[in-house]
Amino acid sequence: MTVELIDSMGDDHSIARAARVSSGTTGTPERNRGLINMLMRDRHGSPFEAVVLQLRVECPIFVAREFLRHRMASYNEVSGRYQEMQPVFYAPDEHRPLRQTGKPGAYHFEAGTPEQHSLTSTAHKSAAGWSWEHYRWLLKEGVAREVARNVLPLNLYTSFYVTLNLRSLLNFLSLRWAHPDSTVPTFPLAEIEDVAMQIDQFARTVAPDAMAAFDKNGRIAP
Ligand SMILES: Cc1cc2nc3c(=O)[nH]c(=O)nc-3n(C[C@H](O)[C@H](O)[C@H](O)COP(=O)(O)OP(=O)(O)OC[C@H]3O[C@@H](n4cnc5c(N)ncnc54)[C@H](O)[C@@H]3O)c2cc1C
Repeated sequence: MTVELIDSMGDDHSIARAARVSSGTTGTPERNRGLINMLMRDRHGSPFEAVVLQLRVECPIFVAREFLRHRMASYNEVSGRYQEMQPVFYAPDEHRPLRQTGKPGAYHFEAGTPEQHSLTSTAHKSAAGWSWEHYRWLLKEGVAREVARNVLPLNLYTSFYVTLNLRSLLNFLSLRWAHPDSTVPTFPLAEIEDVAMQIDQFARTVAPDAMAAFDKNGRIAP
């Protein structure tokens, strides 16, 4: 999974300025930090909408499908109708847990056996190779890209821009990273958690005080 920060608008100061609209005052950085923490703690969410990030994400289609469920964001994704897809496929590495235990809503994952890892790798490679061959075959026979792509699997890579404000981003992080500081449990897919970890780092460069307040208050989105 790859995430790039393309653009951003606003920072911690923008959050504090939005919150102080009635008083018209500008606080010191230290007072702003206290204010931001209070806003996060008491879930006064709208000032956090003053910060906006645009990111470019490269990930398999099955991860993008989960990401695009986050509706409070704007998206532009590459089109398999207007361009040929590239043969880039995801296969879990040996660190990806393979065995699912527990119950719906509270699954736990454990490492697979060497045999399970080997089978998983072989099956991913074989399915990707077979489907890619058929994709190319259809294109060669003059079938439109938008039809030929139907044979491609969910582990094919896609890429998209996502533009979202910090409040939405915190909601995404609260749901997609089972962070040790989270006070509300979540059970995200490992691959989207990887994306969330990278986004968290970018958000920290844009609004460090807001992110520190997010951690301090149990990583609950305001
Ligand atoms: C671990 C996990 C498992 C999941 N499993 C499934 C699954 O099995 N099947 C499935 O379909 N989805 C599943 N989801 C997706 C989940 O239901 C949400 O669609 C997704 O996490 C986006 O969250 P959101 O609605 O808070 O985000 P956004 O869509 O970005 O919305 C942000 C916030 O805006 C408000 N909002 C947005 N739209 C509305 C609306 N229409 N009405 C009222 N308020 C709104 C809500 O407060 C919401 O929290 C799963 C998510 C997680 C994290």
